Amino acid sequence: MLSADFLNLGRDIEMVNNSEADWFHLDIMDGRFVPNISYGMSIISQMKKAAKKTFDVHLMIVEPEKYFEEFKKAGADILTVHYEASTHLHRSIQAIKALGMKAGVSLNPHTPVSVLEDVIADIDLVLIMSVNPGFGGQKFIQQALQKITKVKAMINAAGSNTLIEVDGGVTLENAPALVAAGCDALVAGNTVFSAPDPVEMIKKLKQVGK
Ligand code: ZN
Repeated sequence: MLSADFLNLGRDIEMVNNSEADWFHLDIMDGRFVPNISYGMSIISQMKKAAKKTFDVHLMIVEPEKYFEEFKKAGADILTVHYEASTHLHRSIQAIKALGMKAGVSLNPHTPVSVLEDVIADIDLVLIMSVNPGFGGQKFIQQALQKITKVKAMINAAGSNTLIEVDGGVTLENAPALVAAGCDALVAGNTVFSAPDPVEMIKKLKQVGK
């Protein structure tokens, strides 16, 4: 939703409701973990009133554990923290699940997937950043592909059903390779919202790999 038109947010939410998209992806930035500030609780709560699909909330903030309850109240269904922002990652994962949300962990482009080995069976989602987090509309970093392949192998070895999501620079051109590598969810803000027909673009993305 970072690429939505915030002066026409209701209209853009309705578009997603009426499309084949499965989730709303919300990027929360604090101006500390990333060099940008996006939006907070009041906007999320407002959006939740109009949205009819799963809220996938991606926290790009320091000390995310301070706000788990508030994000639950605002409407988060899936709550993803960054590995790089979590000193006590295992505790955070348990806390998110105890509040009744699905727990996700995100990795910046420089963070190897091996850091997830001891928590992979505990998490519902791995979010691979394919750009440096902070801004929409950036170019896809190719190494993300190998990371997805590695995470997929780790998930299979653990016998877990953790989902893999990729975020940043996803287009209709690179989507087939991402899905082939094992991606379950594609975040495609700019690709969708800058398309002449966003509903049609979502439909095309959903057809990838089918
Ligand atoms: Zn995101």
